[in-house]
Amino acid sequence: RFISFEGIDGSGKSTQARRLADALRARGHAVTLTREPGGSTGAEEIRRLVLEGDPDRWSAETELLLFTAARRDHLEKTIRPALARGDIVITDRFADSTRIYQGTTRGDLAATVDRLHDLMIGTDPDLTILVDIDPETGLSRARARAGTELRFEDMGLATQTRMRAGFLSLATTHPRFRVIDGARDPESVAADILSATLAHLG
Ligand code: C5P
Repeated sequence: RFISFEGIDGSGKSTQARRLADALRARGHAVTLTREPGGSTGAEEIRRLVLEGDPDRWSAETELLLFTAARRDHLEKTIRPALARGDIVITDRFADSTRIYQGTTRGDLAATVDRLHDLMIGTDPDLTILVDIDPETGLSRARARAGTELRFEDMGLATQTRMRAGFLSLATTHPRFRVIDGARDPESVAADILSATLAHLG
């Protein structure tokens, strides 16, 4: 069982991924909670290369290759071994983030993203929780935790709006998505996510 959380910055997905992991563990499931970019030693090193320092250091294409390399390492070292042990794997972001961030943010790399994914990753979660939030709320939440690794510090509402639309459009074409309204109190959001997950786990 392979579950991903997706959403724009400030959507609350990391908090919700943690809550879901806790709730499933409390029900006796073995859970591996992980994240991207990162989730393995090598991928965390790549995370630092991409997210720290000069944001213009890498071209869009190089950045895509770095994110893909990080995902490949994450898959080899963390995700596949955990699934092989029988764990439920919950990852905070996976390939859908690349489809949206690298595929559409800096030029249109969408077709390249898809080809690289098929070539080097070749798998997607069987359940994806999209924590959906309006960009105003997301941006103010993201700015409130300034200093954490928020990219694109001047990332404006227009960008956030485009990302949100991108995620929602992926959700309409992929049946593995569940769209959860993230603008409510964290308890209600967590309750909806848990019931969607339990329904999926059967
Ligand atoms: O999810 P998290 O807040 O840890 O992501 C860190 C930063 O990396 C975010 O600002 C996000 O926009 C960015 N990111 C990205 N491309 C990805 C995944 C994350 O630009 N594929």
